[in-house]
Amino acid sequence: MRAAFPLLAACDARGEGLAYLDNAATTQKPACVLDAVDAFYRTGCANPHRSNHRLARSATEAFESARAELARFAGADADEIVLTSGATHALNLAALGYGAAVLRPGDEVAVSLLEHHSNLVPWQEAARRTGAKLVPLVPDRAGRISDAEVDRAIGPRTRIVAVTGTSNVLGCAPPVVRIASAAHACGAVVVLDCAQSVAHEPLDVRALDVDFAAFSGHKMYGPMGTGVLYGRRELLERTAPLLRGGGMVDRVFERTATFDEAPGGLEAGTQNVAGAVGMAEAARFLSRIGFDAVRAHERALTRRMVEGLASLPSVKLYGPGPDDRDERHGIAAFNVRGVDAAVAAQVLDRRGVAVRAGTHCAQPLLRHLGTDAVCRASIGVYNDERDVDRFLEAVENAQREAVALMTSAML
Ligand code: PMP
Repeated sequence: MRAAFPLLAACDARGEGLAYLDNAATTQKPACVLDAVDAFYRTGCANPHRSNHRLARSATEAFESARAELARFAGADADEIVLTSGATHALNLAALGYGAAVLRPGDEVAVSLLEHHSNLVPWQEAARRTGAKLVPLVPDRAGRISDAEVDRAIGPRTRIVAVTGTSNVLGCAPPVVRIASAAHACGAVVVLDCAQSVAHEPLDVRALDVDFAAFSGHKMYGPMGTGVLYGRRELLERTAPLLRGGGMVDRVFERTATFDEAPGGLEAGTQNVAGAVGMAEAARFLSRIGFDAVRAHERALTRRMVEGLASLPSVKLYGPGPDDRDERHGIAAFNVRGVDAAVAAQVLDRRGVAVRAGTHCAQPLLRHLGTDAVCRASIGVYNDERDVDRFLEAVENAQREAVALMTSAML
């Protein structure tokens, strides 16, 4: 698998053997994705949905085939897929394009406390613009949202529920089907942020029964600057564009304009066609491996990682306990006792282990967990037992090496 990823293969060829465990921030890209992007620019570059020459028609075909592939990947229809610059753009479209158009004063938007800022801050703005109220869906310390909490937070005033598929900090997955059924019983709409789950679990928007779903290409082995907003047809029709301009209008007069239907009407300006082609190739890449194989591989590595961390007295683990091994979807959040998270990540980096430290764009969650920073190790398809063991060895030595690092910094 590592050989399919040029960046990792190059590290191996130099004898560096990078243990890349920062997959929740972004994944590396396989050669098939790089080739697809490259081939578009080398042989297929033209602006889709505009000119009518052969090359432009083939660019339109490439862009729409990418949309169709991503629709298949999400279990949706192609006209329910808006191509965006990423999950953040997609969630802003759901919150400010749809939410701000339908919310009224006194309406409630339930947002889980597990959310990445990208699925919280846009709802804060939608609430500010409309007079709606945000209601937090609060997990326990292990990241679990109980049935009682779902029933408390979702009620007759709830219009929208925004929830993540997997926490990008703790790796736990909220009960999305249970939340969707409570929301729909109240006539509310469910917005799922699957940025963190999309590379690890199959996505089926109909089986999950969600109304909107957002994800990024770069977290599923695709290019940066790509993403999707899935929306149920009738909801996309009520979604206002965030950007207005070329490529999305029907008729334009001096003072007014009418817009194309979604999804094209929500895609203003020249689109990232090469990116969409690359993201669709990434979806094919994942489908070729198959999610059963992805899950089995990542589950085994996650267990090894979590059991290893739990056995180290110097480590404080966050989220599900070591006994709830399968509740973490490829992610372990931890701190090394007495060592600042950023310093611990630096110490690991010196041993060729890449993890992220900080708030992970989830400040309310970290506050809820009683900490201001954690280290996060996250698994991808190319990781293996050697990566995990190298990581565990680095963590085991982190206290000692952090002291050495800080002392040398002071001298
Ligand atoms: N939601 C979650 C759960 C995420 O992990 C991320 C990426 N860190 C985002 C949303 C935002 O994705 P992007 O930065 O690709 O727009």
